[in-house]
Amino acid sequence: SSRPEADSLVGAIDQGTSSTRFLVFNAKTAELISQHQVEINQSFPKEGWVEEDPKEILQSVCECMERTSEKLIQLNINISNVKAIGVTNQRETTVVWDKETGEPLYNAIVWLDLRTQSTVEKLIKKTPGKNKNHLKDKTGLPISTYFSALKLRWLMDNIESVAEAVQTNRAVFGTVDSWLIWCLTGGKNGGVHCTDVTNASRTMLFNIHTMQWDPELCKYFDVPIEILPEVRSSSEIYGYMNSGSLVGVPISGCLGDQSAALVGQMCFKDGQAKNTYGTGCFMLKNTGVKPVMSDHGLLTTVAYKLGRDQPVYYALEGSVAIAGAVVRWLKENLGIIKSSSDIEKLAATAGTSYGCYFVPAFSGLYAPYWEPSARGIICGLTQFTNSSHLAFAALEAVCFQTREVLDAMNQDSGVPLSQLQVDGGMTANKLLMQLQADILCIPVVRPSMSETTALGAAMAAGAAEGVCVWTINPDGMTSVTSEKYQPKINPDESEFRYTRWKKAVQKAMNWET
Ligand code: ADP
Repeated sequence: SSRPEADSLVGAIDQGTSSTRFLVFNAKTAELISQHQVEINQSFPKEGWVEEDPKEILQSVCECMERTSEKLIQLNINISNVKAIGVTNQRETTVVWDKETGEPLYNAIVWLDLRTQSTVEKLIKKTPGKNKNHLKDKTGLPISTYFSALKLRWLMDNIESVAEAVQTNRAVFGTVDSWLIWCLTGGKNGGVHCTDVTNASRTMLFNIHTMQWDPELCKYFDVPIEILPEVRSSSEIYGYMNSGSLVGVPISGCLGDQSAALVGQMCFKDGQAKNTYGTGCFMLKNTGVKPVMSDHGLLTTVAYKLGRDQPVYYALEGSVAIAGAVVRWLKENLGIIKSSSDIEKLAATAGTSYGCYFVPAFSGLYAPYWEPSARGIICGLTQFTNSSHLAFAALEAVCFQTREVLDAMNQDSGVPLSQLQVDGGMTANKLLMQLQADILCIPVVRPSMSETTALGAAMAAGAAEGVCVWTINPDGMTSVTSEKYQPKINPDESEFRYTRWKKAVQKAMNWET
């Protein structure tokens, strides 16, 4: 480029459930400069099991970084302008590896995996009053298949190489952020074993008040505290890239994907919320520096801590396990669409579900029910129903689940949200966005730069002490352009459909009894 002094750039690794991306932003303007994306394979070795290969995850990250670096060079941009790298990741997904060989000891158990259902049921039976919220005061979470502690317990109980490596002090545990940072900073040759407060808060081993691993929780799950990573803030230098084109660049931001989206959407104020539509769907509402406990089935989670000396912010979260995953299921299991984006056209040809309701409780139901034994159902079928109605019902299911979470948020806070800020891969679907506005009866607002998860991680990395190329302005960025979807249908009709949906959910809930 002909500019004498080029702007600083910041990279973000966005390691999601369905794909990995590396994106490079201009630290001054927040403009997206270049990116590369690679799909991730998922395996389903048994009913309810979901695994990914930690080495494939790592390779996809390296590939995305190299391809993006090549694209920068093609744009005549000097890659030495990349001053920092942030990491954002699918949360809860659990990896155990051998710190001496650097090899994973088993596949990553993905967050929506159901193999720990019987363990969850046993644990709940043992707690006073069979209370799934027994550990909620400390963790903000109900006992559920979702969180890492249960997956880690399963690995120690069922995989001999894991048990043995724990015995011989070679095993280390990490969520995907830890695995990646350890590998990228040198792996077995001095890699940094750390995580950030947001990822730690999803393990069920972390006390969200003291901000430390909790010895009592570790005892409850019988997890040796030594195998856990060091917990750091979300914005500080953890280490430096050990190889590749970006060797020597500090890794200085780390946030679980939903926290990163909250930051990228500039939801820094108490009461601000966003909903991200990816594999699952996650609504987070910033509650400021105090953790708020939900009475309506929401989680209390760490939102972010942007620097070692900065305060911790908390969020209320409504997690929905299956959103984009239902589209992937229609594509891969039923074959009624060729690519995810085809669902929009197919559903539009119907324009209605024609009384068909689809509850995709493939991984049980998360918020607000937390019922691991729920299973998916499709009901209201007639001779007339065809694939387009099914596609429509699948999109509607995503919207209804969001409505349930929003209702819970509004009940917890007493102050209803007046509009919903959205992002994530599925928000490219305009029909979905309009349906969502119709079902919520409030406007839905989508930023025109929809890569807010990566943006949040880049902001955290660029703002870290010792990097300081990005100034985070808590008053938000006023110049963000967005699209707004206004509700168009009659609220009575919306209410009628929502009531029907709730009936369908009850049938999914009682499936096994
Ligand atoms: P993640 O971060 O969980 O990997 P993304 O935000 O990348 O997810 O979104 C990918 C998900 O969104 C996939 O499950 C895919 O099926 C779904 N998806 C992508 N594009 C569309 C679309 N146009 N309409 C509906 N679903 C879509």
